Amino acid sequence: MQEIGHWINGKRVAGTSGRFADVMNPATGEVQAKVALATLGELDHAIQEAAKAQVAWAATNPQRRARVMMAFGALINRDMEKLAEMVAREHGKTIPDAKGDVQRGLEVIEVCMGAPAMLKGEAMDSAGPGIDLYAMRQPLGVVAGITPFNFPAMIPLWKIGPALSSGNAMILKPSERVPSTSLYLAELLQEAGLPDGVLQVVNGDKTVVDGILDHPVIQGVGFVGSTPIAQYIYGRAASNGKRAQCFGGAKNHMIIMPDADLDKAADALVGAGYGAAGERCIAISVAVPVGQTSADALIERLIPRIEKLKVGPYTAGNDIDFGPVITQASKDRILGLIDSGVEQGAKLVVDGRGFKLQGYENGFFVGPSLFDNVTPEMEIYKQEIFGPVLSTVRAKSYDDALKLVMDNEYGNGTAIFTADGDTARDFASRVNVGMVGINFPIPVPLSYFSFGGWKKSAFGDLNQYGPDAFRFYTKTKTVTARWFSGIKEGASLNFKALD
Ligand code: NAD
Repeated sequence: MQEIGHWINGKRVAGTSGRFADVMNPATGEVQAKVALATLGELDHAIQEAAKAQVAWAATNPQRRARVMMAFGALINRDMEKLAEMVAREHGKTIPDAKGDVQRGLEVIEVCMGAPAMLKGEAMDSAGPGIDLYAMRQPLGVVAGITPFNFPAMIPLWKIGPALSSGNAMILKPSERVPSTSLYLAELLQEAGLPDGVLQVVNGDKTVVDGILDHPVIQGVGFVGSTPIAQYIYGRAASNGKRAQCFGGAKNHMIIMPDADLDKAADALVGAGYGAAGERCIAISVAVPVGQTSADALIERLIPRIEKLKVGPYTAGNDIDFGPVITQASKDRILGLIDSGVEQGAKLVVDGRGFKLQGYENGFFVGPSLFDNVTPEMEIYKQEIFGPVLSTVRAKSYDDALKLVMDNEYGNGTAIFTADGDTARDFASRVNVGMVGINFPIPVPLSYFSFGGWKKSAFGDLNQYGPDAFRFYTKTKTVTARWFSGIKEGASLNFKALD
């Protein structure tokens, strides 16, 4: 059985704790590797070494650091196929989707190639007589990234790029379910010229996470995962005086107005609801058609599209639409939630519970399901299902639909499909959600903007990647400098008082 360890000081090292977590093959249900879970001692060693390496890295001029990002980007492109296969092997998503996972991370690295422009700070000359003010952006020191299973390449890259190009060292703690991609990214960074020790990958579970949150050397924590853990990490990191940004779960609604192009809306819902088996924080999990006629017409269009979705392992080829979910526990939870929807009176229009695939009977596959007549009191509405299940909540009017979205405790992403610019503008302006799509179902901003939700989808006050990330990973130091005049006026031949 393959044992996966850590990446410390530029080398793969085996774990010493004797504790391991299983890395599953979600398509077969078999254990494919064991990942070491670090001890607090191993974590402390990684942090102390990172602190030493960070000093020289922070003193390296920003353009040289950016060149490491440039070389890193080229290596990611070189190894795109290999990385995509690595992502798919542990996560279960299809190869084209895994390439998207790598690509959306790579795009953040591309922005980090221009990091010096983000680190220039501010200046004001002659703010007073002979006085100049300037604000420097200096790295925090050693920071940590704690990442989820659902984007094994993209989210580690969202953390690594801005943190390192700003002059920090990073302890990356990837999800123990998908550890291989982060270790390989660390290898590529070394090949790109990153000095050893600047990025340490420490695999582990709650022990390591709590160790990070309590360690006095760690200055900042960037977390992505589920809401209860995000809130916990934010609270503990902040009470220990650390800077923290913690991104959590989601329940993303898409409003379909009566004037929308329903075929386009149905296509968008199928892609955004079932892609990656619904295991995306930006998946659309609630469709909100406005008016009974458009609701009926939408359901009619959704059913055949959903019924023809192909579910299978990534090895079966690129025409597979989505793969298995991540664990047996996740599968059981999703099936239990579908049962609860039926018991609580929602109409199960497409039932994916009985899905079976010959040769993969032990895999964590769940067929696509569609609910109609869902109400906000039902568990399938309240919980983030994180599976291939789309719920339809019918709204009587635009205002009812808007209220539903606004009353939901999550605020990651949302979308509206309409032909009316006035409605779209009103929605974008009023809705209390961080990322909004107009006739666009998955509104993940491009890498020179920034990504973040509102309400219980994010804790902390800055978004990930884009300009916000450089603010998060640097602290401001403002200098007020006065230079007295004298030398430039030349020698004085007259005898005068020294005042
Ligand atoms: P998770 O919260 O279970 O795990 C995330 C990380 O936290 C992992 O590294 C894990 O090891 C660690 N962790 C888990 N339990 C912990 C505990 N009790 N104490 C300390 N650390 C703990 O999340 P997941 O299942 O890996 O990922 C799915 C979740 O992530 C979904 O809720 C999804 O919406 C969310 N997500 C959010 C975003 C976003 O940007 N908002 C992006 C991707 C995923």
